[in-house]
Amino acid sequence: RFITLEGGEGAGKSTQLARLVDWLRGQGIDPVVTREPGGTPAAERIRGLLLDAAQTGLSTEAELLLMFAARADHLAHCIEPALSAGRWVICDRFTDATYAYQGGGRGLEQARIAELERFVQRGLRPDLTLILDLPVASGLARAHRRSTPDRFEVEDLAFFERVRATYLEIAERCAERVCLIRADQSEEAVAAEMRACLAERLLA
Ligand code: C5P
Repeated sequence: RFITLEGGEGAGKSTQLARLVDWLRGQGIDPVVTREPGGTPAAERIRGLLLDAAQTGLSTEAELLLMFAARADHLAHCIEPALSAGRWVICDRFTDATYAYQGGGRGLEQARIAELERFVQRGLRPDLTLILDLPVASGLARAHRRSTPDRFEVEDLAFFERVRATYLEIAERCAERVCLIRADQSEEAVAAEMRACLAERLLA
């Protein structure tokens, strides 16, 4: 089983990921936990380039290609071997983030992203994607309280509104794969909804 977790800035993704993994372990499932961009030594180095993109003035096309370069390595050396060995994989962000950030946020055409998706993933998609959704203003307020804002947090409000809108579109278009979770509830309520979604879709 391949599960991905998505959401805008400050949606509580890291906290909720840790809680979900703890719960799965309690169910006797020991998942491989990984993240994008990153997840392998080479992909983590590419992540470094991506997080510096604002400083280095990286072009949007280069950003997209690096995302998929990192993803190709991550698939080949982490995700696919784990799935083949029968492990569950939980990934913090995946291709939906590319549609949301490089597509919606930066304005790259969806069709170009879809081409790379076909080339790199050859039909591989998550079995379940949980999207944590939060109004942009509340998410940014939460994210700014963190000590290390990264390159993506220098963008303007409209950028994050486009990111959110794209995630909402994906949730509607891919309802068979995606669960949209309202993240403006208590931490416990969000965790419970995520567990319920997963249990209903993958453990039933
Ligand atoms: O998941 P996390 O929030 O730690 O991601 C680090 C940063 O990378 C975020 O600010 C996110 O907006 C950005 N990102 C991106 N495009 C992606 C994936 C992540 O801009 N495809």
